[in-house]
Amino acid sequence: MGERKQGYRFCVKVWGCQMNVYDSDRVRTALGRRGWEEVPSEREDDAELIIITGCSVRAKAEQKVWSELGRYEASWKKDRLPVVALTGCVAQSLGKKALSRFPWVRLVSGPRHIGLLPDGLQRVMDVPETRLNLLDDDPRAFFDLDEVTVRRENPYRAYVTIAHGCDNFCSYCIVPYVRGRFLSRPKDDILREVRALVADGVREITLLGQNVNSYGKDFKDGTSFASLLRCVAREDGLERVRFVTSLPQDFTPDIVEVMASEPVVCPSLNLPIQAGSDRILKLMNRKYTYAEYLEKVRSVRAALPELGLTTDLIVGFPGESEEDFQASLSALKEIRFDLVHSAAYSEREGTPAAVMPGALPQEVRLERLTRLNTLQDAVTLSINRGLVGKICAVFVDSHAPKGLAPTGERLLQGRTPTDKVVIFPADETLLGQCTHVKITAAESWCLHGEITEK
Ligand code: SF4
Repeated sequence: MGERKQGYRFCVKVWGCQMNVYDSDRVRTALGRRGWEEVPSEREDDAELIIITGCSVRAKAEQKVWSELGRYEASWKKDRLPVVALTGCVAQSLGKKALSRFPWVRLVSGPRHIGLLPDGLQRVMDVPETRLNLLDDDPRAFFDLDEVTVRRENPYRAYVTIAHGCDNFCSYCIVPYVRGRFLSRPKDDILREVRALVADGVREITLLGQNVNSYGKDFKDGTSFASLLRCVAREDGLERVRFVTSLPQDFTPDIVEVMASEPVVCPSLNLPIQAGSDRILKLMNRKYTYAEYLEKVRSVRAALPELGLTTDLIVGFPGESEEDFQASLSALKEIRFDLVHSAAYSEREGTPAAVMPGALPQEVRLERLTRLNTLQDAVTLSINRGLVGKICAVFVDSHAPKGLAPTGERLLQGRTPTDKVVIFPADETLLGQCTHVKITAAESWCLHGEITEK
């Protein structure tokens, strides 16, 4: 065998949730430490290895990955490059098919095999013809990658996973099948990672998990999410701490108490409602009623009047009548969320909902989605307009997508504690710092403002 090459040029392509972003950042960090060179996706033709991390939560996201995999055929036939690795939860659902269909896919890895990925990638790159299957056959096993994300999308903000998998089995959701059973990370590992990120310049941490509120339940020693949140909030050097995602039935008053008493924990909450009809919530295997959900929202708002509240909602679930759908619309009117992540129901093979009677035609699902989004856009815009004239504390984390104002000034962007995006002209020395911005105009997706004294 010839001499082993020291490093390879790789390109990472990520779709899906923050978990995928975080996992990809750990992998790119691990490969960087091996001396491999990352090339941006605009220059992917220079890469010898493409790492695709994709999402399987909706059928459309899977189709996107499938068509992406097919794009490398011509180049593979010509140069036997690039080698493609498929990772993330989409690998768990499509991996076997991808390995057998595309000869350029040389490695597939489920999310619970991330710790074996760097060595696996080294092997498929070093040894021609090698093909590796690292799929998660045991939903309780976990091979972690002990890597602090020093290579990440944003220098000032970072994610930290606190738990893997999910045991809730909502009837529409593929996550428990592709990400395995619930497993909390040891608290000391989490705090060590937080400290290393702070030392690397991070000022805002988002704690991640499919259901962060269950954190510690599997330790059976009284550890709770509230106690972890308090510990993280008290780490030196952090400006802001956030967390996603919460599950309504597990979101308990002790968490609200920590949010209200620890100044760095942001008053922002994503609390997925999924439907406004109790009948549909039951079919979804969500273990709360609309009245219980509403009560929870009222108690959090009583403790945190400035709360930024977002939610996730599915329309067109099997058997959803017009009356059920109207209950979702009423919920949006009554609760007035700051933002709704809405989706038309998408069948996921292997989940109970995929074989439930009463599947709705695609047009009905999409028509309901449009009606729901129209209503919510108006709610969001009216909430945002109510902020015009107010002064917000903004953590400045990046350049605005449109880099310059019409006046030629540089535009930066940041977020309020309630998680609203604010765009304003400023000098880039403010990046990574908190400042005060007076809101001058509002759109439904962002606010505009100017820097002011407090
Ligand atoms: S809580 Fe329900 S929706 Fe969320 S990941 Fe678990 S099964 Fe899926």
